[in-house]
Amino acid sequence: MVEAVRTVPAPEGLGVALARVPPGAEIELVLRLESVVEGVLVTGTAEYEVVGECARCLDPVSYDEEAEFAELFVYPATDARGREIDEGEEDEEAPSRIEGDMVDLEPLVRDAVVLRLPIAPLCQENCPGLCATCGERLEDPGHVHEEIDPRWEALARLARESRESSTQTETHDDQEEGS
Ligand SMILES: [Zn+2]
Ligand SMILES: [Zn+2]
Repeated sequence: MVEAVRTVPAPEGLGVALARVPPGAEIELVLRLESVVEGVLVTGTAEYEVVGECARCLDPVSYDEEAEFAELFVYPATDARGREIDEGEEDEEAPSRIEGDMVDLEPLVRDAVVLRLPIAPLCQENCPGLCATCGERLEDPGHVHEEIDPRWEALARLARESRESSTQTETHDDQEEGS
């Protein structure tokens, strides 16, 4: 078994809507390569920094993350004389192949990293988010606007509804009633 530590630059497009690993940012790979009958089993971890925006308040977010991966790279198919058989276009289902003495780790690392990126990163666990009315941060619990309290609003609606049901003859623009 061979162990190796490599630092590689992040490839392009390593991100989702609100979180990403910027292109060129360092990804540290700790790799274990193990020879098996069919080829080489590669397992390892990637360490990198995720940057993004809080899904609630859009403040910058960054944190260290670690993703694990494992993949079996099989030897290329050979004919009776040991020559490599060209199998043409690779399809998605085909196993990862060793090409020459190389294995292409990028798709493997990419999948592992993207899978762990958060759909909705938060700057803190209970980020209060932004005020729907003025767009300011809701950090201050005393942040209020002159509005009808929703509980009073619900009571007002109840009163309206009971009035309407007791006066069936009343007609409304948006509500045509039968005879
Ligand atoms: Zn936030
Ligand atoms: Zn506000």
